[in-house]
Amino acid sequence: MIYIGCHLSVTNGYEAMGKTMLDFGGNTFAYFTRNPRGGKSKDIIPEDAGALNALCKKNRFGPLVAHGSYTMNLCAANPSTRSNGLEMFAKDMERMKLFENTFYNFHPGAHTGQGAGKGIELIADALNRTLTPDVKTVVLLETMAGKGSEVGKNFEELREIIDRVTSYAEIGVCFDTCHVWDAGYDVVNDLDGVLTHFDDVIGLDRLYAVHFNDSKNPCGSHKDRHEKLGEGYIGMEGMKRIALHPALQGKPFILETPNDDSGYIREIHTVLGWMDNTNP
Ligand code: FE
Ligand code: FE
Ligand code: ZN
Repeated sequence: MIYIGCHLSVTNGYEAMGKTMLDFGGNTFAYFTRNPRGGKSKDIIPEDAGALNALCKKNRFGPLVAHGSYTMNLCAANPSTRSNGLEMFAKDMERMKLFENTFYNFHPGAHTGQGAGKGIELIADALNRTLTPDVKTVVLLETMAGKGSEVGKNFEELREIIDRVTSYAEIGVCFDTCHVWDAGYDVVNDLDGVLTHFDDVIGLDRLYAVHFNDSKNPCGSHKDRHEKLGEGYIGMEGMKRIALHPALQGKPFILETPNDDSGYIREIHTVLGWMDNTNP
């Protein structure tokens, strides 16, 4: 089995998200650690974080997946953009100490003209500076679609970042199905091949979470436009095969599809239905 849930808004607090996900029928979720565009964050009330931890434990939720801000660019050429990113990252790692069983995933960064090699170097430097021994959170690099100057557009770039991390922290990968498809990995016709390649380059033991999205564009388009399950180029059969793949069992699957609440509830139940039909 996999854990299934969707991205939720943190507006009403942390325990409130847990309750929402119970209502939705899922058993994991994701949220932005701060406003996705602006980068500001509300102070977390420790009691609220504790209540969420208890709710997740009681209801046997899978790991949650907190998402770093889109404005956090750890390899920006502009020094003030990069130092803002470093500050956000450090604050997020501090905040994550309040949460149990939660991964922290983020977009590795955009090298903004410096070249992928320099981007990789700067991202690894940021990880080494920030992931001090007191940080226990597992940090996940997200697989990217390769739009603009995004770093992480192939498994090799992610491997290079991981190889340069000398801190003791556990670095994993969040496998975004829309992004890998858009990056040119054919998860529809060769899912086994893509996951074998992932295993060869990065290692499947580093695949901690999945962003479960269909794509509005064909394989290799480098666009990054998410689509509802079954309404995009990956298609319902393709999505189902990913959810049921043996290598991905036990992972949290997070929907980041363009949906309102009722759409998310429908997709969560679609995925739960696939699992029911495979468990005799
Ligand atoms: Fe993301
Ligand atoms: Fe994603
Ligand atoms: Zn995306």
